Amino acid sequence: MADLVVEELSMRFGGITALDSLSMTVEAGQICGLIGPNGAGKTTLFNCVGRVYQPSAGSVRLGDVDLLALPAHRIAYAGVARTFQNLGLFPSLTFLENVMAGAYSSVGGGFLKSILRIGIAAQERELEARAHRLLEMLELDRHAFSLAKDQPFGTLKRLEIARALASGPRLLLLDEPAGGLTDSEVGELSELIDSLPERFGVTVLLVEHRMAMVMGISDKIVAMSYGRKLAEGSPEEIRQHPEVIASYLGGA
Ligand code: ATP
Repeated sequence: MADLVVEELSMRFGGITALDSLSMTVEAGQICGLIGPNGAGKTTLFNCVGRVYQPSAGSVRLGDVDLLALPAHRIAYAGVARTFQNLGLFPSLTFLENVMAGAYSSVGGGFLKSILRIGIAAQERELEARAHRLLEMLELDRHAFSLAKDQPFGTLKRLEIARALASGPRLLLLDEPAGGLTDSEVGELSELIDSLPERFGVTVLLVEHRMAMVMGISDKIVAMSYGRKLAEGSPEEIRQHPEVIASYLGGA
């Protein structure tokens, strides 16, 4: 069943059409890779789904929820979380605190009710325990009390995923998670991302330029060009698609 449904989505910035009537779906528990040359509109699509931008036209639904009808600050409560190319972490906080901050972003009104029900100290303990469990699952527990700014970029990329998962999302948007990583770090990260749907029950939308990685872990690929969908299919189908080869893949 389709979990994410994007229909006829358009986004214009002045005279530039960054997204041009783009439609696509992602099934629940799938990893969908978005590929395309620079300027194809991948980040704009992310920013429309994540409600950073209000698209000029079209619709985006997650399950039964019309994401574009929500105010941007409600997006986390609706089950959408994202990572950022340049990391959305607090450098001067510990790993544990960063993950707890991610969890706070989703509790919203429920948080207040929960505080009234169990008290603020108990609520904090519950979030802290959840954050510890997440760090363990992502093999980051030994860094729980390290400051983010003291750890290498590759480790912070994992922390960034832990922070996004802390809100308990249904849809996880990963923006170039492998950017700036060494080949061996990319291998480890691929394994982690590959495991996310099964371990955390998430659907994943992934923008990534490292082709071997996207092709290796995606169930489906959407290839974009000039704001439009050029092709959609399994990695194998996309690899053999003449227009995708001509416009983007070359020998990849
Ligand atoms: P890259 O792989 O380089 O990140 P992309 O596929 O993510 O590229 P976008 O960043 O979505 O592409 O850009 C699509 C088009 O929209 C480009 O022509 C870009 O210049 C334009 N664009 C994106 N954001 C804005 C903005 N905030 N204001 C004006 N134009 C923008």
